Amino acid sequence: MEMYDVLIVGGSTTGCWFAEKMAENGSKVLVIEKQLPDDVSRTYDIFHMGEAEMERFGLDTLDEDNPVREFRFEHSSMISPYGTYYKRGADSPVIGLHKHDYIMLMAEKAKAKGAEFIYGADFKDFIYDANGKIAGAKFMTADGEQSAYAKIVADCSGIPSVARRKLPDSSPVCNFTITPKDILYVVLYYVKYLDENVKPREYDGFFMQYKAWSAPAGEGYDAILGIGGSYSYEYAEEIFNEQYSKNVKYPDYEVKKVEKGMTPYHRSVYSFVDDGFIAMGDAACLTKPTCGEGCTSSLVQGEIAVEVISKLLKEKLPLTKENMWSINSRYMKAQGKDFDFMRPLLMGVVSLTYEEAEYMFANDIVFSEKLFGGMEDNNLSLKGNDVAMWLGKIAAAVAKKKISSDSIGKVIKGLRQAVEIGALYDKYPELPEDFPAWKEKADKKWAEIGTLADTCDPEILKKLGIA
Ligand SMILES: Cc1cc2nc3c(=O)[nH]c(=O)nc-3n(C[C@H](O)[C@H](O)[C@H](O)COP(=O)(O)OP(=O)(O)OC[C@H]3O[C@@H](n4cnc5c(N)ncnc54)[C@H](O)[C@@H]3O)c2cc1C
Repeated sequence: MEMYDVLIVGGSTTGCWFAEKMAENGSKVLVIEKQLPDDVSRTYDIFHMGEAEMERFGLDTLDEDNPVREFRFEHSSMISPYGTYYKRGADSPVIGLHKHDYIMLMAEKAKAKGAEFIYGADFKDFIYDANGKIAGAKFMTADGEQSAYAKIVADCSGIPSVARRKLPDSSPVCNFTITPKDILYVVLYYVKYLDENVKPREYDGFFMQYKAWSAPAGEGYDAILGIGGSYSYEYAEEIFNEQYSKNVKYPDYEVKKVEKGMTPYHRSVYSFVDDGFIAMGDAACLTKPTCGEGCTSSLVQGEIAVEVISKLLKEKLPLTKENMWSINSRYMKAQGKDFDFMRPLLMGVVSLTYEEAEYMFANDIVFSEKLFGGMEDNNLSLKGNDVAMWLGKIAAAVAKKKISSDSIGKVIKGLRQAVEIGALYDKYPELPEDFPAWKEKADKKWAEIGTLADTCDPEILKKLGIA
């Protein structure tokens, strides 16, 4: 049987990128992908990535006339719930691409560096060595069950997390299932405005209160009106039709195409590594807390993993959790702390009523160009002065009954929990032996925080029969 250095489960963005980088560093790499080549990543078409992030991770930005590249735009705004106030965000350019085609280009790049791919290969289980350590994987193909040995299995299988979920409860890598509560169900409406004089780009922006947006859609359409909701597509569609579309007045449009897809909305796993194993991408819940995008944010961990694992392989050292632990501790400092700090804070902010959020937009309280314009790579740079100014304005708003004390309580709770998570993640253990005690504290804190799904509209949940 073939022996590989790295066996990657899943050949989408994370798997192809990791395959290319590891093969480039001299590793023998096998990717097993469940779908046949024509069917890989077909749930939605257009996706975007920041140009600077693409360059950082060595992702081709492609020539303007390449049909896989659809558009480039330069800024987006955060918009108030009734569409009145636009707060311009960071001006970082963003590139829109056709996802399936781009992934196939990524696979070709990985193959050119020596990585092997087997399509139509469905991961079934790990193979273990005589000591019970992971030593490869079994997978089903049209030709029956096959297996391959490898020094490490990388789970890049997205939400199904097919390999991670096979780990025992004793593994430091959480083996939880990503449930409907932990998913953003995204519906994309590709629209064409009826009046051809409408300038679609004037409407682009993100509405935090609904988790909805208007963005470029590429040729043949004027815009994508998108929405994400917890629990189900029905929940997202209900918010779109009953709240967002009624409160925000778009020019009349025709829906030309609808796409649906899922992205995880959950804190990252606490440890990515175990002996002979690493969880990456959506399978490790590495999506951005602000919007659920994950193609480049997951590569922050990927970049560290490539460096650490390549070095261990070159030095012929075993890929144990002890030897790979720095992937965890370095990632938590590089991005994990900022992402997980933001989750409780956002939960507090989206608990405001639409009227309250509108008032805060109007008065530059939290929802300000200063904040959104300074947001790069999801790092919120809160300054003491800004917070003090907001608190003063909030106190005045409560006195004027523009914001209820209940809502403010939720925002302050979110801010407090965010600060507590930040402090906990600052103390992320440098060694695996200190991990169980840290995990116990983190589990307690996250149980107290809950999830974004807890902020769903109770009336709609009732109407849809969701508990
Ligand atoms: C509608 C929508 C729009 C989005 N837009 C953006 C965007 O614009 N920008 C952005 O950065 N992110 C976006 N995201 C998020 C982004 O899609 C994900 O974060 C990203 O695709 C994660 O990549 P991945 O490789 O980790 O997982 P996935 O893309 O989920 O890939 C997992 C792969 O594993 C394979 N697999 C599954 N089970 C098995 C098995 N048993 N055996 C073998 N292979 C298996 C799957 O077939 C799949 O190819 C969007 C998400 C949605 C739903």
